[in-house]
Amino acid sequence: MLENYQVQLRQREYLLRISRAMTSRLDLPSLLRLILGSAVDMLGGEAGLIVLRGPDGEFSPRASIGIPVAALSLFQPLWEDLPHQETSDPSLWQIPDLGRRLALVSASVGIALRQVVALPLVLEESMEGVIYVFRTRDLRFSASDRQSLASFADQAAIAVRNAQLYQQVSEEKQRLDTIIANSADGIMILDPDQRVQVVNRSLSELTGWSAEAARGRLCHEVLDLRDRQGRPLCDQDCPLREIAGGQHFYIEGDLIRRNHKRVTVGVSYTPLFDQDGELMSIICNAHDITRFREAEELKSTFISVISHELKTPVALIKGYAGTLRREDAHWDQETLSEGLAIIEEESDRLARLIDNLLDTSRVQAGALRLEISDVYLPRVAAKVAERLQSQTTSHEIKVAFPENYPPVDGDEERLEGVLYNLLTNAIKYSPDGGEIRVGGRFDDKEAIVFVADQGVGIAPEDRAQLFRPFSRVDSGLARRTPGAGLGLFLCKAIIDALGGRIWVESAPGEGSTFYFALPRQAA
Ligand code: ADP
Repeated sequence: MLENYQVQLRQREYLLRISRAMTSRLDLPSLLRLILGSAVDMLGGEAGLIVLRGPDGEFSPRASIGIPVAALSLFQPLWEDLPHQETSDPSLWQIPDLGRRLALVSASVGIALRQVVALPLVLEESMEGVIYVFRTRDLRFSASDRQSLASFADQAAIAVRNAQLYQQVSEEKQRLDTIIANSADGIMILDPDQRVQVVNRSLSELTGWSAEAARGRLCHEVLDLRDRQGRPLCDQDCPLREIAGGQHFYIEGDLIRRNHKRVTVGVSYTPLFDQDGELMSIICNAHDITRFREAEELKSTFISVISHELKTPVALIKGYAGTLRREDAHWDQETLSEGLAIIEEESDRLARLIDNLLDTSRVQAGALRLEISDVYLPRVAAKVAERLQSQTTSHEIKVAFPENYPPVDGDEERLEGVLYNLLTNAIKYSPDGGEIRVGGRFDDKEAIVFVADQGVGIAPEDRAQLFRPFSRVDSGLARRTPGAGLGLFLCKAIIDALGGRIWVESAPGEGSTFYFALPRQAA
């Protein structure tokens, strides 16, 4: 009697120890091993098994002791058509025909499993799993064995639920972390004091701040936003001030990167509150909107340039046509032909502008078509030079290419257009006249053409933007000289499409040399 009492006491102590160990373990596989090991130990079994219900509602073995892993599937009869838990007392729960099921398994596995006790893991009144303990000896499991296992199973079920929840939360967090890390938008998470906690890769790239360097800094140090005039946006009207009131909001501004360069961004701020309504974090989502800004600016430049460039020739054409057809005036032959020549020139200018506009929209739509053939650039250059020489007396155009200059794969008409543009620019931007040299050189890989003038030149800071659409150097001469700023953009688009490159070298006040290089034909 006393011995029985001592055994029960030991079992209770053991149970207490195990339940403490169980509640601190959150890793599900290791928790299941602990539960099963303890259950088998407690009941003096030789083997054990835990099955759990999966997301599909089916049971499957999740931990085992004393059973070869390969044989686990043979135990299936033990959890086939399990009865649902209807009673709140798991010790009253029975698997029907447990003896017959055990005999079946025992025969197919080839291990003499004589006794089994099975208890459900009940989680929130639903049966989510079963613990089985087996004996190979004939010793029966007593009612008190079942009772101990039952109270143990209750504790185990809670621990399993906690571990499952923890696993779910960890998986969810992992998924979120992956989404944040790989999002193409820049994401930054701030604590309620506006200090940076998390920075993803895109935001690091956008701001130039690495995640390590950004962590712990104030939001506006990393996301230094300015208005168009360069004034800090966060000083004037910190977007985060209103956020504590639960507002989500969006601002646009210039971001000063860590290397002091600027990029235009749109940033949205979203507050996250806990259950008590306390601000927990602020999620900032930033993306580069430079392109949209540029597109907007381009549109307005387009409209102003076009209206300006169209106005002049149309006014001239209309003025001369109106004057020449006045019925009360008699024009001599010279005045007549001068007037008509101007009308013709201005119409040509209009036609060229329209062609350039159409080509620009083709380039932007990716629909610039090229007709590729063998092109001998010295001949094309000579033809364009001859045409333009007849239009100027103050410039002398000289064409000189090396004798064995190779042909290239190109679109002859388009390349003629490129040379025409470079040469008219050389004339336009050399107001004092001078020599214009057109020539070339080549190596194994490329054939290069240059157009050199002795004109006004281009300041270094203006060179990079010359090849953008509607870009004109802001100088008195450019303002006086007609042009829409499309010529060099189209030259570059054509040379790029032919796999070549175009660039400029210039000494302001002394002249500019434009180069383009095209790949040589395969031997
Ligand atoms: P456009 O001549 O119609 O303005 P382009 O695209 O051909 O347009 O040229 C863009 C700008 O580049 C010009 O407005 C001018 O300021 C500058 N530029 C082009 N060629 C020369 C040159 N040879 N010398 C000096 N400036 C030039």
